[in-house]
Amino acid sequence: MTLYSKESIVAPCKAMSRTGRFVHSFLITGAQGTGKKVAARYLAMSLLCSAKSSDNEPCGVCRECSRILRGQHPDFIEVKKSGVSFSVNDIREKVVADCYTPPNDCDRKVYLLADCDGWTDAAQDALLKVTEDPPDYGYFIFTARIREVFLPTLISRSMTMEVHEADTRECEAALREHGNALSLNSSKKKEFTEENISRAAKIFGGNIGCAIECIEGSGKLAKTADTAIEAARAIAQRNEYALAAALSSASGNRDEMRTVLEMLSRVIRDSAVARAFSGKSGRGADNGFIGCAREESLQIAEFAGSARLNEMYEAIREASYLCTRNCNGAAVASMLTGKLL
Ligand SMILES: [Zn+2]
Repeated sequence: MTLYSKESIVAPCKAMSRTGRFVHSFLITGAQGTGKKVAARYLAMSLLCSAKSSDNEPCGVCRECSRILRGQHPDFIEVKKSGVSFSVNDIREKVVADCYTPPNDCDRKVYLLADCDGWTDAAQDALLKVTEDPPDYGYFIFTARIREVFLPTLISRSMTMEVHEADTRECEAALREHGNALSLNSSKKKEFTEENISRAAKIFGGNIGCAIECIEGSGKLAKTADTAIEAARAIAQRNEYALAAALSSASGNRDEMRTVLEMLSRVIRDSAVARAFSGKSGRGADNGFIGCAREESLQIAEFAGSARLNEMYEAIREASYLCTRNCNGAAVASMLTGKLL
């Protein structure tokens, strides 16, 4: 199985497979589109695969692995939300009550609770007993964009794995593979031209899920990328009015706002790389860039020092966190504009 840029998942899975001893609770964190669910399925396959390689990797093709990949394994339970986030009842009925029933086919049973961003403390509290003292066969995987959405009690009894983005070359390879895998008569296949692949890999800086969606999606994500680029340009030109306009155009939709902020945080991260690279403007450092606005990152690095870049990065992360906590988008946009310029 190829898992692009997921050494942070593959290495601990192999180590646990080697000893046969897995922790019972996992937190997988990472930005949108970095492959948290792909990583969660890989982890589930590591737990349930019946034909692991000599290198302790799940095979991806045995009965267990293929049922996991099709979403049809009776012992790999992808817990569904009844609303926008997991409720106390979801947790009680679909996880706590169910997990004391032994597995159907395997000797382990794995629960996946994906996209926990925005769930309440009460929902997490309902999980504490089973995660503290799980049945021997019970394993739990939680995914969220950032680790801060989990209560310290859950963090302390779990293994956290952060999913990172692929580099641009890996992203291009994955996009080609994805394009080839689409059946011949799929109209989407035609969209995977070298030109589109290279553009998407450049904009999304190796975020494979976003790059795929950008190519085959409705154009919504490409529009979000344009907003992030506009915001980066406004920061580079120190134009407060333009920054406020760009951020507030996304602020009506929390998901869109978070994606814009994630892209913007990568732009600032690139400025910091540029800064560290040369100590001054960092021209020539942009090979290691992961953001959507290279030129703007370089311009920002010319006037902002590393302490200031760090403040900007933290302000963007904080705004992104506030968006997961149901704060008012317009207020977050205006607060962030004030902190960035
Ligand atoms: Zn297998």
